[in-house]
Amino acid sequence: MTADPPALRARGLTKDFRGFRAVDGVDLTVAQGRVHALVGPNGAGKTTLFNLLTGFLPVTAGRIEVAGADVTGLAPEGFARRGVARSFQITSLFGQLTAREHVALALQSGSALAWQFWRSAKLMRRYDARAMELLDMVGLADLAETTADALAYGRKRALELALALALEPKVLLLDEPTAGMGLEDVDRTVALIAAVRQGRTVVMVEHNMSVVGALADRVTVLQAGRVLVEGAYDEVRADERVISAYLGE
Ligand code: ADP
Repeated sequence: MTADPPALRARGLTKDFRGFRAVDGVDLTVAQGRVHALVGPNGAGKTTLFNLLTGFLPVTAGRIEVAGADVTGLAPEGFARRGVARSFQITSLFGQLTAREHVALALQSGSALAWQFWRSAKLMRRYDARAMELLDMVGLADLAETTADALAYGRKRALELALALALEPKVLLLDEPTAGMGLEDVDRTVALIAAVRQGRTVVMVEHNMSVVGALADRVTVLQAGRVLVEGAYDEVRADERVISAYLGE
């Protein structure tokens, strides 16, 4: 019996910006069903790596595989088709649309033929029903008819997550899911990620180490574009190299 291929694997991943090497030969293996955190001081290359792993930036060198298939060089849509989705940014929310309309729209855009059936009331009802399920999952059922503009910050972040979930991802990438949140929203988001990880693989860039400790099975610490340490949270946290990397931030 052969083992399942990793959900996501990067080999020798490298990104240059006009001669500046932001990501430098990164190897990363994310097993299926795991939560894997990318951490590191500012400028370590986390965002760049995240963009490479979702096809938002082309690689300078290296290879990316999703469930064993080579996806290097594909556009974000190609990654999405293979089950990789990232949380949308708040900047991509349309202020005047309600939470339900946002999720229904994301469900439609994930379906190639959906636009042909735009007027099909049956299909729209199906999208609306699924949209409500997703909003319920992220704790927004009561706010389904609220426009994005009127949602508080933490609720907007929850809506972003619902939009990513609308793509039915096998691998969900989250870019700083708790950034800028107060304690209550952080706790709510941790519980939410713990729920949505069921049946999925999650890769997240996260600064808040208590969030990493609560959720991550594996942690990769980046520094100056390279992997400094990889391991379980407790190992990584106790590692002298990690402590000095953060002290030098
Ligand atoms: P992190 O997310 O860990 O803070 P980034 O991936 O944002 O790190 O940045 C890593 C390095 O790459 C930084 O030195 C940053 O200035 C540089 N960098 C990121 N994006 C670009 C870009 N588009 N052009 C030039 N340099 C960039």
